[in-house]
Amino acid sequence: MDFVIFFIIGAFIGSFFNVVIYRLPRDESVIKPRSHCPNCKKPIPFYRNVPIISFIIQLGRCANCKQRISIQYPTVELINGLLWGWAFKNLLFPEAITVSLLFSILIAIAWIDYRIYMIPLDLIIVGVIIISFSIIFGVLSLHQALLGIVAGVFFPGAMMGLTWIFTRRQGMGFGDLQLGFILGAWLGPILMILTLFFASLLGLIVWILISMFQGMDRNRPLPFAPYLAFSAISIFILSNYSTTLIDRLIMV
Ligand SMILES: [Zn+2]
Repeated sequence: MDFVIFFIIGAFIGSFFNVVIYRLPRDESVIKPRSHCPNCKKPIPFYRNVPIISFIIQLGRCANCKQRISIQYPTVELINGLLWGWAFKNLLFPEAITVSLLFSILIAIAWIDYRIYMIPLDLIIVGVIIISFSIIFGVLSLHQALLGIVAGVFFPGAMMGLTWIFTRRQGMGFGDLQLGFILGAWLGPILMILTLFFASLLGLIVWILISMFQGMDRNRPLPFAPYLAFSAISIFILSNYSTTLIDRLIMV
């Protein structure tokens, strides 16, 4: 039951974050005006703005002008719904709030970085506020958060420095370091290091695949936030199932 209720709430939150993903990079307000079709500008009434369902009923098109609606909308709503459902089913209440909100922010950051190669500072600030409240209310441990920040900022920072020394290129952006700050504070040092490792491996695999199909291009930008966000969320969820694995890693 928890899962269904919070799946629905999460899908609506996802619907809000779709607006954030669309408007934040365009410097538009995320509150006003109400949702409207990006093509014909007609406002979308609430009964046509039901997450996932409206997209399916309207066969992926605007009810007014029949313009195709981006698959981003139902995808973000579905992912948010699933993650919120999971968080409130599997975590204690205060932690579920922290984690589900961070999930939503990470999805938005990943999506925006994938689209325009930029991590909006506004979302980082919201993340820092959530982390701060979670530490104040004892959901996250300050000690673990500080160690996690060291791992999440120091290691990528060192990698950035080395990349620059050897190739005179900026491998990652400073936005990735800001994201590392939030992820480290949330995950703590061990899960953060696993996240960095997994994200780098995933990024490398995708980079090789793209190079194979589209040819080598050393200047091709590779947004890193989607890999960081995907890895952090996956590793956090897995760590809730395999505490023994994590325990073993901490013992080493
Ligand atoms: Zn339209």
